[in-house]
Amino acid sequence: MNAEIIVVGSELLTPHRMDTNSLYLTEQLNLLGVEVVFKSIVGDNLPRLVAAAEHALFRSEIVIFSGGLGPTEDDLTREAVAEALGVGLRRDPEILRSLEERFAARGWKMAANNAKQADVLEGATVLANPNGTAPGQWISGEFEGREHIIVMLPGPPHELKALFETEVRERLRAKVPPAFLATRTLKIAMLGESAVDARVAPIYTRYKDVETTILAGAGEIELHFKSRAANQEAAQQRVDEVADLVEDELDDAVYSRDGQSLEQIVGYWLQMRGATVAVAESCTGGLLAERITSVSGSSRYFVGGAVVYSNALKTEFAGVPAEMIERHGAVSREVAAALAEGIRYRCESTLGVGITGVAGPGGGTPEKPVGLVFHAVASDRGTEVAQRNFPGDRKRIRRFASTMALDMLRKKLM
Ligand code: AMP
Ligand code: MG
Repeated sequence: MNAEIIVVGSELLTPHRMDTNSLYLTEQLNLLGVEVVFKSIVGDNLPRLVAAAEHALFRSEIVIFSGGLGPTEDDLTREAVAEALGVGLRRDPEILRSLEERFAARGWKMAANNAKQADVLEGATVLANPNGTAPGQWISGEFEGREHIIVMLPGPPHELKALFETEVRERLRAKVPPAFLATRTLKIAMLGESAVDARVAPIYTRYKDVETTILAGAGEIELHFKSRAANQEAAQQRVDEVADLVEDELDDAVYSRDGQSLEQIVGYWLQMRGATVAVAESCTGGLLAERITSVSGSSRYFVGGAVVYSNALKTEFAGVPAEMIERHGAVSREVAAALAEGIRYRCESTLGVGITGVAGPGGGTPEKPVGLVFHAVASDRGTEVAQRNFPGDRKRIRRFASTMALDMLRKKLM
C-alpha cells in the first residue's frame, strides 16, 4: 500500500520552522512496509487544504495529516478533510466534556474556540491524545471506489508520536497487507559522490528490486539500500547481498555498516587499541574536539587539546617553533605536523592531531588558496600529514577538514 503525508501549517512554509513530523511518519510507515510516495506542506488555508486532500485521496491509499487540529481559527484540517470527503462534522459531547475537564483540572475556564477540537468527521474513530487537547481521527472506508485510510494527527511532535504509537501503528498494521522492508546503510568517508557512484553503480543497478539512494555531505557519503519482500529474511538477504558487494568494492573507505557515525567509529577504535587522543586545531576552531566529544563515553579516550588560532598560541600551547611558522607559514605541512606532535607531547596522549588551513572566504593567496588544509596525526611511530584542497564555503571547508582528520585517525587505528 502507498501512503501520502500532508503536513499542515503556515509556519512550516517559513524559513523559521522545519517539518520533522513527516520524517518520523515516513520512518514508521516504512517499518510497516508502507512506502511514502508523496508528501506536501500546505499552509493554513481552507481551499488549498481541500485541494491537497482531494488530490491525495485520488492518488494514495493511505493519507496522513499532521497538524491543524488545534483550537485556533487557522486550524482547518478537520474542515478540509470533511469537505474533501463530502462528509459532515458533528460536535462530540464526550470530547467536549473531557476538554472542559482538562481545563478545569488546571483551574482554567475553557475558551469557546476550544470547542471545535471536539468536532469529529462522520464515520471517524476518535484517537485519544494523552499529551494534548486535540484528539486525532481515523477514517477508513471506500472513497471514489477505492479503499482508503485517512488519519489526522496533531502537529506538536511529541503529541503526534505518542498518538501514532498508541493509536495508529497497530490499526495500520491490521489493515495493510504484510510487506517486509529491509534497509542497510553504508557510510563512506573522503571519497567524492561521483567517484563512489562510478564504482558502485555497476553493482547496485543489477539489483532491480533494491532501491539505492546516495546522500552526500562534506567528506561523507551515505549509501542507503532498501528492499521489500514477502518476508523479512528475504528482504534482508537482498539488501545485504548488494551492501556486501559494494563494501568489497569500496574496501576501507566504508567506515560504518550499521548506522554509526564517524565519531563513534573513531571512538570505538581508540578504545579497542587502548589509545587516547589530543587535538590542536587552528582553522576548525574546536570543531574536531566538538565532534569527538559528541559521543557519550568519549572521556575514556579524548584527553583534550587546544584551539590555537594565533601564531603565538601555536608556539605557547603546542610547542610549534616560532621560526618554523616564520619560515613555512602557519598553514603548512610542517606546522600541521608540529601541532600534532606538540599537543601529543603536551597532553601525554597516544595520538596527537593537528589541523591548520585557510577556511576563507578571505585570507587566500595564490600559493595558499581558500580551502587548503593540512591535517596531521602523530603517534609513537611518526607523523602522517595530509594536504587537501576542499571546495565550498567556510562552514563546508571546516566540516571537510574535521572529517578528514577523523578519517585519518580511523585509518591509523584500524
Ligand atoms: P498545530 O497542531 O498545527 O497547531 O501545530 C502546533 C505546533 O506543533 C506548531 O506550532 C509547531 O511548532 C509544531 N509542529 C506542527 N507541525 C509540525 C511538523 N510537521 N514538524 C515539526 N513541528 C511541527
Ligand atoms: Mg498549525
